[in-house]
Amino acid sequence: MHRGGHAELLARHRAVMPDWLALYYDQPIELACAQGRRVTDREGNTYLDFFAGILTNAIGYDVAEISDAVRAQLDTGVLHSSTLYLIRAQVELAEKIATLSGIPDAKVFFTNSGTEANETALMLATGYRRSDQVLALRNSYHGRSFASMAVTGNRGWSASSLSPLKVSWVHGGYRYRSPFKDFSDADYIKACVADLREVIETTTAGDVACLLAEPIQGVGGFATPPDGLFAAFKEVLDEYGILLISDEVQTGWGRTGEHFWGIQAHGVTPDAMTFAKGLGNGLAIGGVVARGDLMDSISANSISTFGGNPVSTAGALATLDYLLDHDLQANAAKMGDLLGHGLRTIAEDRPAVGDVRGKGLMVGIELVGPAGEPDPKAAAAVLEGSRERGLLVGKGGLYGNVIRLAPPMTVTEDEVVEALGILGDVL
Ligand code: PMP
Repeated sequence: MHRGGHAELLARHRAVMPDWLALYYDQPIELACAQGRRVTDREGNTYLDFFAGILTNAIGYDVAEISDAVRAQLDTGVLHSSTLYLIRAQVELAEKIATLSGIPDAKVFFTNSGTEANETALMLATGYRRSDQVLALRNSYHGRSFASMAVTGNRGWSASSLSPLKVSWVHGGYRYRSPFKDFSDADYIKACVADLREVIETTTAGDVACLLAEPIQGVGGFATPPDGLFAAFKEVLDEYGILLISDEVQTGWGRTGEHFWGIQAHGVTPDAMTFAKGLGNGLAIGGVVARGDLMDSISANSISTFGGNPVSTAGALATLDYLLDHDLQANAAKMGDLLGHGLRTIAEDRPAVGDVRGKGLMVGIELVGPAGEPDPKAAAAVLEGSRERGLLVGKGGLYGNVIRLAPPMTVTEDEVVEALGILGDVL
Protein backbone atom coordinates (compact mmCIF):
# COMPACT_ATOMS: atom_id res chain seq x y z
CA MET A 1 0.00 0.00 0.00
CA HIS A 2 1.19 3.50 -0.78
CA ARG A 3 2.14 5.38 2.41
CA GLY A 4 3.46 8.93 2.38
CA GLY A 5 4.43 11.50 5.00
CA HIS A 6 2.12 13.90 6.81
CA ALA A 7 2.28 16.67 4.20
CA GLU A 8 1.64 14.24 1.40
CA LEU A 9 -1.36 12.72 3.19
CA LEU A 10 -2.81 16.19 3.74
CA ALA A 11 -2.40 17.01 0.04
CA ARG A 12 -4.10 13.74 -0.89
CA HIS A 13 -6.92 14.46 1.60
CA ARG A 14 -7.47 17.89 0.02
CA ALA A 15 -7.44 16.44 -3.49
CA VAL A 16 -9.93 13.65 -2.95
CA MET A 17 -12.18 14.86 -0.12
CA PRO A 18 -14.65 17.78 -0.11
CA ASP A 19 -13.38 21.32 0.39
CA TRP A 20 -16.02 21.81 3.08
CA LEU A 21 -14.89 18.85 5.19
CA ALA A 22 -13.65 20.66 8.29
CA LEU A 23 -10.22 19.82 9.69
CA TYR A 24 -8.81 21.38 12.86
CA TYR A 25 -5.45 23.20 12.89
CA ASP A 26 -3.26 24.80 10.22
CA GLN A 27 -1.35 21.52 10.24
CA PRO A 28 -4.02 18.86 10.90
CA ILE A 29 -3.19 16.04 13.28
CA GLU A 30 -3.00 12.36 12.31
CA LEU A 31 -3.29 10.22 15.42
CA ALA A 32 -1.16 7.13 15.78
CA CYS A 33 -2.15 5.85 19.22
CA ALA A 34 -3.91 6.83 22.43
CA GLN A 35 -4.10 5.89 26.09
CA GLY A 36 -6.18 7.27 28.95
CA ARG A 37 -6.74 10.95 28.19
CA ARG A 38 -3.67 11.31 25.96
CA VAL A 39 -3.30 10.91 22.20
CA THR A 40 -0.09 10.71 20.19
CA ASP A 41 0.32 11.82 16.59
CA ARG A 42 2.44 10.24 13.85
CA GLU A 43 5.30 12.65 14.58
CA GLY A 44 5.40 11.41 18.17
CA ASN A 45 3.82 14.49 19.81
CA THR A 46 1.57 13.62 22.73
CA TYR A 47 -1.44 15.76 23.66
CA LEU A 48 -3.81 15.90 26.60
CA ASP A 49 -7.24 15.54 24.97
CA PHE A 50 -9.75 18.03 26.35
CA PHE A 51 -12.22 17.63 23.51
CA ALA A 52 -12.48 13.83 23.62
CA GLY A 53 -13.11 13.50 19.90
CA ILE A 54 -16.06 15.94 20.09
CA LEU A 55 -17.34 14.23 23.22
CA THR A 56 -17.35 10.77 21.67
CA ASN A 57 -14.80 9.54 24.16
CA ALA A 58 -16.79 9.39 27.37
CA ILE A 59 -14.28 7.24 29.22
CA GLY A 60 -10.94 7.73 27.51
CA TYR A 61 -8.70 5.74 25.21
CA ASP A 62 -7.65 2.10 25.36
CA VAL A 63 -10.03 1.02 28.11
CA ALA A 64 -9.54 -2.72 28.74
CA GLU A 65 -13.18 -3.42 29.67
CA ILE A 66 -14.41 -1.96 26.39
CA SER A 67 -11.69 -3.42 24.17
CA ASP A 68 -12.29 -6.86 25.74
CA ALA A 69 -16.03 -6.69 25.10
CA VAL A 70 -15.50 -5.64 21.48
CA ARG A 71 -12.75 -8.26 20.99
CA ALA A 72 -14.98 -11.00 22.40
CA GLN A 73 -17.62 -10.10 19.82
CA LEU A 74 -15.03 -9.99 17.01
CA ASP A 75 -13.78 -13.42 18.12
CA THR A 76 -17.23 -14.91 17.48
CA GLY A 77 -16.71 -14.03 13.80
CA VAL A 78 -19.95 -12.01 13.73
CA LEU A 79 -18.86 -8.43 13.10
CA HIS A 80 -22.30 -7.97 11.73
CA SER A 81 -24.85 -9.91 9.82
CA SER A 82 -28.21 -8.24 10.08
CA THR A 83 -30.31 -6.29 12.53
CA LEU A 84 -33.15 -8.52 11.21
CA TYR A 85 -31.85 -11.13 13.67
CA LEU A 86 -31.90 -11.00 17.45
CA ILE A 87 -28.81 -9.36 18.96
CA ARG A 88 -28.44 -10.01 22.68
CA ALA A 89 -26.28 -6.96 23.53
CA GLN A 90 -28.72 -4.72 21.63
CA VAL A 91 -31.68 -5.88 23.72
CA GLU A 92 -29.76 -5.54 26.99
CA LEU A 93 -28.55 -2.07 26.03
CA ALA A 94 -32.07 -0.97 25.08
CA GLU A 95 -33.42 -2.23 28.42
CA LYS A 96 -30.81 -0.26 30.35
CA ILE A 97 -31.32 2.94 28.36
CA ALA A 98 -35.11 2.67 28.64
CA THR A 99 -34.82 2.37 32.44
CA LEU A 100 -32.26 5.17 32.71
CA SER A 101 -34.39 7.48 30.54
CA GLY A 102 -37.11 7.92 33.15
CA ILE A 103 -39.60 8.03 30.26
CA PRO A 104 -42.66 5.93 31.12
CA ASP A 105 -43.06 2.76 29.04
CA ALA A 106 -39.97 3.69 27.03
CA LYS A 107 -38.78 1.94 23.87
CA VAL A 108 -35.46 2.33 22.06
CA PHE A 109 -34.42 2.40 18.39
CA PHE A 110 -30.70 2.28 17.53
CA THR A 111 -28.94 4.19 14.77
CA ASN A 112 -25.29 4.82 13.84
CA SER A 113 -25.15 8.53 14.60
CA GLY A 114 -26.77 11.50 16.26
CA THR A 115 -27.98 12.76 12.90
CA GLU A 116 -29.95 9.59 12.22
CA ALA A 117 -31.26 9.62 15.79
CA ASN A 118 -32.71 13.11 15.29
CA GLU A 119 -34.01 12.13 11.86
CA THR A 120 -35.87 9.23 13.49
CA ALA A 121 -37.22 11.37 16.33
CA LEU A 122 -38.51 13.96 13.84
CA MET A 123 -40.11 11.21 11.77
CA LEU A 124 -41.86 9.87 14.88
CA ALA A 125 -43.06 13.27 16.09
CA THR A 126 -44.30 14.49 12.70
CA GLY A 127 -46.03 11.16 12.06
CA TYR A 128 -47.62 11.04 15.50
CA ARG A 129 -48.89 14.60 15.28
CA ARG A 130 -49.68 14.47 11.51
CA SER A 131 -47.87 17.79 11.14
CA ASP A 132 -44.72 18.95 9.39
CA GLN A 133 -44.32 21.99 11.62
CA VAL A 134 -41.60 21.89 14.24
CA LEU A 135 -40.00 24.28 16.69
CA ALA A 136 -36.27 24.60 17.21
CA LEU A 137 -33.96 26.87 19.16
CA ARG A 138 -31.82 29.51 17.52
CA ASN A 139 -28.10 28.57 17.53
CA SER A 140 -28.90 24.84 17.60
CA TYR A 141 -27.03 21.96 15.94
CA HIS A 142 -28.79 18.67 15.28
CA GLY A 143 -26.94 16.98 12.41
CA ARG A 144 -26.12 16.65 8.73
CA SER A 145 -29.23 15.25 7.02
CA PHE A 146 -31.97 17.36 5.40
CA ALA A 147 -34.33 17.22 8.37
CA SER A 148 -31.66 17.60 11.05
CA MET A 149 -30.04 20.48 9.09
CA ALA A 150 -33.47 22.09 8.79
CA VAL A 151 -33.65 22.32 12.59
CA THR A 152 -30.02 23.46 12.87
CA GLY A 153 -30.15 27.18 13.63
CA ASN A 154 -26.43 27.66 13.20
CA ARG A 155 -26.23 28.40 9.45
CA GLY A 156 -22.48 27.89 9.44
CA TRP A 157 -23.23 24.19 9.78
CA SER A 158 -26.27 24.01 7.58
CA ALA A 159 -25.17 23.67 3.98
CA SER A 160 -28.63 23.64 2.41
CA SER A 161 -31.74 25.77 2.75
CA LEU A 162 -33.92 22.95 1.42
CA SER A 163 -36.15 21.61 4.15
CA PRO A 164 -38.69 18.82 4.50
CA LEU A 165 -40.09 20.63 7.57
CA LYS A 166 -41.69 23.96 8.41
CA VAL A 167 -39.44 25.23 11.17
CA SER A 168 -40.10 28.11 13.55
CA TRP A 169 -37.28 29.44 15.72
CA VAL A 170 -37.45 30.35 19.37
CA HIS A 171 -35.16 32.02 21.88
CA GLY A 172 -33.80 30.24 24.93
CA GLY A 173 -30.51 28.49 24.17
CA TYR A 174 -27.95 31.21 23.61
CA ARG A 175 -28.47 33.70 26.40
CA TYR A 176 -25.18 35.61 26.13
CA ARG A 177 -26.13 37.33 22.86
CA SER A 178 -29.90 37.33 23.23
CA PRO A 179 -32.05 40.43 23.74
CA PHE A 180 -32.72 39.10 27.27
CA LYS A 181 -29.04 38.73 28.19
CA ASP A 182 -29.10 40.87 31.34
CA PHE A 183 -32.42 39.61 32.70
CA SER A 184 -32.56 37.60 35.94
CA ASP A 185 -33.01 33.84 35.45
CA ALA A 186 -36.72 34.10 36.25
CA ASP A 187 -37.25 37.04 33.88
CA TYR A 188 -35.19 35.36 31.16
CA ILE A 189 -37.41 32.27 31.37
CA LYS A 190 -40.53 34.47 31.33
CA ALA A 191 -39.31 36.32 28.22
CA CYS A 192 -38.45 33.06 26.42
CA VAL A 193 -41.83 31.55 27.30
CA ALA A 194 -43.60 34.65 25.96
CA ASP A 195 -41.53 34.36 22.77
CA LEU A 196 -42.40 30.65 22.45
CA ARG A 197 -46.09 31.39 22.84
CA GLU A 198 -45.93 34.22 20.31
CA VAL A 199 -44.04 32.06 17.79
CA ILE A 200 -46.61 29.26 18.12
CA GLU A 201 -49.55 31.67 17.87
CA THR A 202 -48.28 33.86 15.05
CA THR A 203 -46.00 31.74 12.85
CA THR A 204 -47.60 28.29 12.98
CA ALA A 205 -51.06 26.81 12.55
CA GLY A 206 -50.90 25.66 16.18
CA ASP A 207 -50.74 21.96 15.41
CA VAL A 208 -46.96 21.82 15.74
CA ALA A 209 -45.35 18.36 16.01
CA CYS A 210 -42.53 18.99 18.47
CA LEU A 211 -39.88 21.18 19.95
CA LEU A 212 -36.46 19.60 19.42
CA ALA A 213 -33.82 21.16 21.68
CA GLU A 214 -30.38 20.61 23.20
CA PRO A 215 -30.40 21.17 26.99
CA ILE A 216 -26.93 22.74 26.53
CA GLN A 217 -26.13 23.77 22.96
CA GLY A 218 -22.97 21.87 22.05
CA VAL A 219 -21.74 23.08 18.66
CA GLY A 220 -23.41 26.37 19.62
CA GLY A 221 -20.64 26.94 22.17
CA PHE A 222 -21.90 25.16 25.30
CA ALA A 223 -24.64 27.78 25.57
CA THR A 224 -26.43 26.98 28.82
CA PRO A 225 -29.95 28.17 29.60
CA PRO A 226 -31.07 28.62 33.22
CA ASP A 227 -32.51 25.54 34.94
CA GLY A 228 -36.27 25.43 34.67
CA LEU A 229 -36.50 26.87 31.13
CA PHE A 230 -37.66 23.59 29.61
CA ALA A 231 -40.18 22.93 32.38
CA ALA A 232 -41.69 26.34 31.64
CA PHE A 233 -41.61 25.55 27.90
CA LYS A 234 -43.29 22.18 28.52
CA GLU A 235 -46.27 23.84 30.19
CA VAL A 236 -46.89 25.83 27.01
CA LEU A 237 -46.18 22.85 24.73
CA ASP A 238 -48.67 20.72 26.70
CA GLU A 239 -51.43 23.27 26.06
CA TYR A 240 -51.01 22.63 22.34
CA GLY A 241 -50.17 18.91 22.54
CA ILE A 242 -46.68 19.65 21.15
CA LEU A 243 -44.06 16.99 21.96
CA LEU A 244 -40.76 17.80 23.67
CA ILE A 245 -37.68 16.01 22.32
CA SER A 246 -34.38 16.46 24.09
CA ASP A 247 -31.24 16.09 21.97
CA GLU A 248 -28.87 14.49 24.48
CA VAL A 249 -26.13 13.73 21.96
CA GLN A 250 -23.66 15.90 23.92
CA THR A 251 -25.37 16.25 27.31
CA GLY A 252 -26.17 12.58 27.98
CA TRP A 253 -24.38 9.91 30.04
CA GLY A 254 -23.72 12.11 33.09
CA ARG A 255 -21.37 14.57 31.38
CA THR A 256 -23.15 17.57 32.91
CA GLY A 257 -22.27 16.19 36.34
CA GLU A 258 -25.46 16.99 38.18
CA HIS A 259 -27.74 14.70 36.16
CA PHE A 260 -27.51 11.69 33.87
CA TRP A 261 -29.40 13.52 31.10
CA GLY A 262 -29.08 17.26 30.53
CA ILE A 263 -32.83 17.83 30.44
CA GLN A 264 -33.21 16.52 34.01
CA ALA A 265 -31.76 19.81 35.31
CA HIS A 266 -35.08 21.35 34.27
CA GLY A 267 -37.20 18.94 36.29
CA VAL A 268 -39.05 17.73 33.24
CA THR A 269 -39.45 14.41 31.42
CA PRO A 270 -39.44 14.75 27.64
CA ASP A 271 -41.48 12.59 25.27
CA ALA A 272 -38.30 11.38 23.59
CA MET A 273 -34.54 11.78 23.79
CA THR A 274 -31.90 11.28 21.13
CA PHE A 275 -28.39 10.09 21.95
CA ALA A 276 -25.08 9.10 20.31
CA LYS A 277 -21.42 10.11 20.77
CA GLY A 278 -20.29 9.09 24.29
CA LEU A 279 -22.31 5.88 24.44
CA GLY A 280 -19.91 4.04 22.12
CA ASN A 281 -16.73 5.52 23.61
CA GLY A 282 -15.63 5.90 19.99
CA LEU A 283 -17.75 3.25 18.29
CA ALA A 284 -20.52 4.41 15.98
CA ILE A 285 -23.85 4.18 17.77
CA GLY A 286 -26.83 6.47 18.35
CA GLY A 287 -30.51 6.12 18.96
CA VAL A 288 -33.85 7.38 20.17
CA VAL A 289 -35.57 6.52 23.44
CA ALA A 290 -39.24 7.50 23.39
CA ARG A 291 -42.59 6.91 25.00
CA GLY A 292 -43.81 3.50 23.83
CA ASP A 293 -46.94 4.89 22.16
CA LEU A 294 -44.88 7.45 20.27
CA MET A 295 -42.27 4.88 19.20
CA ASP A 296 -44.97 2.47 18.06
CA SER A 297 -47.08 5.11 16.31
CA ILE A 298 -45.61 4.49 12.86
CA SER A 299 -46.81 1.42 11.01
CA ALA A 300 -44.35 1.06 8.13
CA ASN A 301 -41.51 -1.44 8.55
CA SER A 302 -38.22 0.16 9.40
CA ILE A 303 -34.75 -1.05 10.20
CA SER A 304 -31.27 0.37 10.23
CA THR A 305 -28.79 -1.98 8.57
CA PHE A 306 -26.01 -1.17 11.00
CA GLY A 307 -27.89 0.61 13.83
CA GLY A 308 -27.38 -1.46 16.97
CA ASN A 309 -24.98 -3.93 15.33
CA PRO A 310 -23.29 -6.57 17.53
CA VAL A 311 -19.88 -4.85 17.73
CA SER A 312 -21.21 -1.36 18.52
CA THR A 313 -23.72 -2.63 21.08
CA ALA A 314 -21.12 -4.86 22.79
CA GLY A 315 -18.85 -1.81 23.13
CA ALA A 316 -21.72 0.46 24.16
CA LEU A 317 -22.93 -1.96 26.82
CA ALA A 318 -19.41 -2.12 28.27
CA THR A 319 -19.17 1.70 28.12
CA LEU A 320 -22.49 2.20 29.90
CA ASP A 321 -21.57 -0.35 32.60
CA TYR A 322 -18.20 1.35 33.09
CA LEU A 323 -19.81 4.80 33.33
CA LEU A 324 -22.25 3.59 35.97
CA ASP A 325 -19.90 1.28 37.92
CA HIS A 326 -17.28 4.02 38.26
CA ASP A 327 -19.85 6.78 38.86
CA LEU A 328 -18.24 8.96 36.21
CA GLN A 329 -21.11 11.40 36.58
CA ALA A 330 -19.78 12.24 40.07
CA ASN A 331 -16.28 12.69 38.65
CA ALA A 332 -17.70 14.93 35.91
CA ALA A 333 -19.32 17.10 38.61
CA LYS A 334 -16.15 17.31 40.70
CA MET A 335 -13.67 17.86 37.86
CA GLY A 336 -16.12 20.18 36.11
CA ASP A 337 -16.26 22.39 39.23
CA LEU A 338 -12.47 22.51 39.36
CA LEU A 339 -12.20 23.35 35.66
CA GLY A 340 -14.98 25.95 35.70
CA HIS A 341 -13.68 27.61 38.87
CA GLY A 342 -10.12 27.67 37.51
CA LEU A 343 -11.25 29.26 34.27
CA ARG A 344 -13.35 31.89 36.02
CA THR A 345 -10.28 32.83 38.06
CA ILE A 346 -8.17 33.03 34.90
CA ALA A 347 -10.91 35.13 33.23
CA GLU A 348 -10.85 37.77 35.98
CA ASP A 349 -7.98 39.75 34.48
CA ARG A 350 -8.49 38.80 30.84
CA PRO A 351 -11.03 41.11 29.17
CA ALA A 352 -10.94 38.89 26.06
CA VAL A 353 -12.91 36.28 28.03
CA GLY A 354 -16.51 37.48 27.80
CA ASP A 355 -18.16 34.45 29.37
CA VAL A 356 -17.27 31.15 31.03
CA ARG A 357 -20.25 28.78 31.07
CA GLY A 358 -21.45 25.21 31.02
CA LYS A 359 -22.03 22.37 33.41
CA GLY A 360 -19.84 19.50 34.55
CA LEU A 361 -17.37 18.56 31.84
CA MET A 362 -18.88 20.85 29.22
CA VAL A 363 -17.16 24.19 29.75
CA GLY A 364 -17.24 26.98 27.18
CA ILE A 365 -15.12 30.14 27.00
CA GLU A 366 -16.59 32.91 24.83
CA LEU A 367 -13.86 35.18 23.45
CA VAL A 368 -14.70 38.79 22.71
CA GLY A 369 -13.11 41.92 21.27
CA PRO A 370 -12.84 45.32 23.00
CA ALA A 371 -16.50 46.21 22.39
CA GLY A 372 -17.73 42.76 23.41
CA GLU A 373 -18.02 41.63 19.79
CA PRO A 374 -17.35 37.96 18.92
CA ASP A 375 -13.63 37.33 18.32
CA PRO A 376 -13.23 34.16 16.23
CA LYS A 377 -9.56 34.99 15.52
CA ALA A 378 -8.80 34.82 19.23
CA ALA A 379 -10.52 31.43 19.43
CA ALA A 380 -8.46 30.16 16.50
CA ALA A 381 -5.30 31.44 18.20
CA VAL A 382 -6.21 29.70 21.48
CA LEU A 383 -6.85 26.47 19.59
CA GLU A 384 -3.41 26.62 17.90
CA GLY A 385 -1.61 27.89 21.00
CA SER A 386 -3.04 25.09 23.14
CA ARG A 387 -1.98 22.51 20.59
CA GLU A 388 1.58 23.89 20.59
CA ARG A 389 1.62 23.42 24.37
CA GLY A 390 0.24 19.89 24.22
CA LEU A 391 -3.49 20.42 24.81
CA LEU A 392 -6.36 19.65 22.43
CA VAL A 393 -9.49 21.77 22.84
CA GLY A 394 -12.59 22.37 20.73
CA LYS A 395 -14.07 25.43 19.07
CA GLY A 396 -17.70 26.36 18.49
CA GLY A 397 -20.36 29.03 18.81
CA LEU A 398 -22.50 30.86 16.29
CA TYR A 399 -19.50 33.06 15.43
CA GLY A 400 -16.74 30.46 15.95
CA ASN A 401 -15.49 32.41 18.96
CA VAL A 402 -16.06 29.89 21.76
CA ILE A 403 -13.45 27.45 23.09
CA ARG A 404 -15.05 24.19 24.20
CA LEU A 405 -13.57 21.96 26.88
CA ALA A 406 -14.97 18.44 27.28
CA PRO A 407 -12.34 15.91 28.39
CA PRO A 408 -13.15 12.23 28.89
CA MET A 409 -15.20 11.81 32.08
CA THR A 410 -12.36 9.87 33.71
CA VAL A 411 -10.17 13.02 33.73
CA THR A 412 -8.08 13.43 36.89
CA GLU A 413 -7.36 16.44 39.08
CA ASP A 414 -3.73 16.55 37.88
CA GLU A 415 -4.89 16.65 34.28
CA VAL A 416 -7.37 19.46 34.97
CA VAL A 417 -4.62 21.45 36.70
CA GLU A 418 -2.29 20.79 33.74
CA ALA A 419 -4.95 21.99 31.27
CA LEU A 420 -5.65 25.10 33.35
CA GLY A 421 -1.93 25.92 33.38
CA ILE A 422 -1.77 25.72 29.60
CA LEU A 423 -4.99 27.70 29.10
CA GLY A 424 -3.90 30.39 31.54
CA ASP A 425 -0.70 30.73 29.55
CA VAL A 426 -2.42 30.76 26.14
CA LEU A 427 -5.22 33.11 27.13
N1 PMP B 1 -26.96 16.54 17.93
C1 PMP B 1 -26.00 17.20 18.60
C2 PMP B 1 -26.38 17.99 19.82
C3 PMP B 1 -24.67 17.12 18.18
O1 PMP B 1 -23.72 17.79 18.85
C4 PMP B 1 -24.34 16.36 17.03
C5 PMP B 1 -22.91 16.22 16.55
N2 PMP B 1 -22.05 17.23 16.82
C6 PMP B 1 -25.38 15.71 16.37
C7 PMP B 1 -26.66 15.81 16.84
C8 PMP B 1 -25.09 14.88 15.14
O2 PMP B 1 -24.45 13.73 15.50
P1 PMP B 1 -23.58 12.92 14.44
O3 PMP B 1 -22.43 13.78 14.06
O4 PMP B 1 -23.21 11.68 15.19
O5 PMP B 1 -24.47 12.61 13.29
